[in-house]
Amino acid sequence: MIRNIIISSLAMFVLADSSAQSSRTWNGKKAAVVITYDDAIDEHLNNAIPVLDSLGLKATFYITGFSNSMQKRLNDWKNISVNGHELGNHTLYHPCTGGPGREWVKPDYDLRNYSVKRILDETRATNLLLQSMDGKIRRTLAFTCGDTRIGDTSFSALLKNDFVAMRGVRSLMHPIDKVQLDNVDCYGVNGESGDQLTAWAKQALESNSLLVVLFHGVGGGNSLNVSLDAHRQFLTYLKQHEKEIWIAPMIDVAEYIKKYQGK
Ligand SMILES: [Zn+2]
Repeated sequence: MIRNIIISSLAMFVLADSSAQSSRTWNGKKAAVVITYDDAIDEHLNNAIPVLDSLGLKATFYITGFSNSMQKRLNDWKNISVNGHELGNHTLYHPCTGGPGREWVKPDYDLRNYSVKRILDETRATNLLLQSMDGKIRRTLAFTCGDTRIGDTSFSALLKNDFVAMRGVRSLMHPIDKVQLDNVDCYGVNGESGDQLTAWAKQALESNSLLVVLFHGVGGGNSLNVSLDAHRQFLTYLKQHEKEIWIAPMIDVAEYIKKYQGK
């Protein structure tokens, strides 16, 4: 009798333990969050980096190689990689497909005026520039404006072997077996409060998912913006939940997913 009770409670313990294990698919944690900043603007160096560094969090900066800030503060950008942040590829000139609703796209940098070879060369040249800054060969890309095609040709398919992962712009989150590394979904921030941003992280925890957050302006610098308070509140929440949430640059999380999915 006692033996049976011991065996059945042992079985329950094993069951409970294995379900706890299976919900910790993210490097031993329940969810993963990748914090990304696009376009290489001064506000990332001035406003985002100090908060990240004070909390000891590492993020991914999708660098537009020829941005104003890169031209003026190349060394500051180089230093953030020394400090453990990822320099991701966001092309040299930030070309996008122009047209209705995209009137701000300049003709020189309109993907409708690009050849496929030109976007491939520009993207690979950006890899070289970033390699000269951080010495790294393996890297991730964020599609500019989420654009992946020129006419009928998907240039993203032709870049697949150049990157460990490529980030898109669809607002979705997925568990580890469902993440598509050639089009990683992400939540673009545009005026959300700290509570709203935090709710995304809670949703990732509940669904054992990867949450990728995309910031542009931080306390200004872009029409897509987050307030300094909301940004700080979100990052502080992540830090406080580090036991459950794996917070790492895209390259680390993508390498982990790749290994997991390859099993
Ligand atoms: Zn961009």
